[in-house]
Amino acid sequence: MNLQSLHTKLGTQDKCIAYLEKLRWGRKPVCVFCKASSVTKRKESIRWHCNDCNKDFSVMMGTIFEDSRLELPKFFEIIFLMINAKMGISASEIARNVGVKYQTAWFACHKIRCAMINNELKLEGMVEFDEAYIGGKKRKLVQNEANLSAITSKRGRGTSKTPIVGVVEKKGRVYVKIIEKLTSRNLLAMLKDKVDTDNSIVFTDDFKSYKQFDNAVDHITIKHSEGYGKGVKTINTIEGFWSILKNGIKGSYRAISKKYLPFYLAEFSYKFNNRHLQKNAFDKIIDNALKDESCLINYKPKGNPREIVNRVSKPKMALS
Ligand SMILES: [Zn+2]
Repeated sequence: MNLQSLHTKLGTQDKCIAYLEKLRWGRKPVCVFCKASSVTKRKESIRWHCNDCNKDFSVMMGTIFEDSRLELPKFFEIIFLMINAKMGISASEIARNVGVKYQTAWFACHKIRCAMINNELKLEGMVEFDEAYIGGKKRKLVQNEANLSAITSKRGRGTSKTPIVGVVEKKGRVYVKIIEKLTSRNLLAMLKDKVDTDNSIVFTDDFKSYKQFDNAVDHITIKHSEGYGKGVKTINTIEGFWSILKNGIKGSYRAISKKYLPFYLAEFSYKFNNRHLQKNAFDKIIDNALKDESCLINYKPKGNPREIVNRVSKPKMALS
């Protein structure tokens, strides 16, 4: 789908509602409260009435579209722009393109990221594990050797960067999360949670916290001191993902507070994992968006939205 066909197919609120109803319920709507199928359409309204529990509901209830004052065609346009921007797209660019306020774009983008979260992944096969650092203050220019060694320190120790850990199937799917302390215990917990250890071979570098993996899974260590490995004996897939993530964040978002970082990780992981979807990429994300997302409940900002947006839009961390 291109922007032109999006406008033709889903250019009005009514068309969007019909599209959502079809995706969520197929031919026959069911009550979002009690799942009963005896429901009646309210006249001149998008609401349905349940004859069982007597409550009214709409297709947007319990989804990322609930409570949004943004018209659906514009919401859909934002979704379209987001899923097609491989390296990310800033809320201000979206605001300019779609013709909405910055805050409106910012909130819509975060809701869409909620639809991109996938914590259910279990990876298998040949799997790479690695960590990276996002954010942190920019260091001053190198003036002496001590600074130089700090800059080249791979683990980013002693900086204010946020450690994230990624696990990826070679030519497959990725899962990323923030892990504050890169201890053996925390990394092992993530391995057991995210990887089918009976059916996988795990590749890591020689960071000491991965040593414990030897007891839990077939584990191949790639020694950086002996070059970066050959053939399948590399962690090139995850390194590739880190470069997309870092360049994307740097290019489109510049500064991301730690609080909201998980949303951006979800966005880049989702795009990576769905990179082969073409025609049905739009249907897929809308399908996700229609699912009950507990994430949204956790996300709903407390306090004045304007205040939160202003706080976040001020650079907290320069990214490197
Ligand atoms: Zn009902």
